[in-house]
Amino acid sequence: MDTCFLSLIVLSYIQKQVLLDGTMRIIDLTQKIYEGMNVYPGDPEVKITEECTLAKDGYTVFKIQINDQIGTHIETQYHMLQGKRLVDEHISRFIGIAHVIDVPCRKITKDDLQQSGDSLKSCEFLLLRSRYSQTRKNINVNDINRPVLGIEAIKWIVEQGIRLIGIDCFDFDEPPHYPGHKYLLKHNVLIVEGLTNLGSLVKKRIKLFVIPLKIERTGASPCRAFAIEE
Ligand SMILES: [Zn+2]
Repeated sequence: MDTCFLSLIVLSYIQKQVLLDGTMRIIDLTQKIYEGMNVYPGDPEVKITEECTLAKDGYTVFKIQINDQIGTHIETQYHMLQGKRLVDEHISRFIGIAHVIDVPCRKITKDDLQQSGDSLKSCEFLLLRSRYSQTRKNINVNDINRPVLGIEAIKWIVEQGIRLIGIDCFDFDEPPHYPGHKYLLKHNVLIVEGLTNLGSLVKKRIKLFVIPLKIERTGASPCRAFAIEE
């Protein structure tokens, strides 16, 4: 039996395991990107243009104009500091075990995070589930009923050894100085914002994938975020 045929059989077996194994769930946590979607105040709008068409060219090519903070996105140090850019991070930094904590849509204190109980031990990533994006689509930085992490909460997260935090809101910080971003990024904690659908997660401990495009120079990129629950 040649190795190619053998690998096909193995692949088919693995796929069946994934499909047949009712204990494994894959949950998409990513916003759709489309023209007219909300952008952070002052950021460029999305524009998607069909440059080559099936009718005219026999194939399609789209010009996609987006900013690096659009929708569900991941941020590295260079977003706000002189430091690592997106391409400086190894792809392994975007995959890890995450602990899910429910947080209120108001200023989040260290007590809020500690009282949520479960230990963060053995988790590298922290997901903050506010459910904000499930009910509100506008990006309003002045909304006092949005989740905002106080600096004590931020410091506590860093002390726990967390290396990536994610939240289901367009932001968790206070403009114009963004103290939370700067503290996290200075300590090399990656930031994922604009997650959605966290309400579909059943487990408190999940495997999280936040996979950005491999773009040179930028400090951030839209990403495809998904969870695996086993
Ligand atoms: Zn941000």
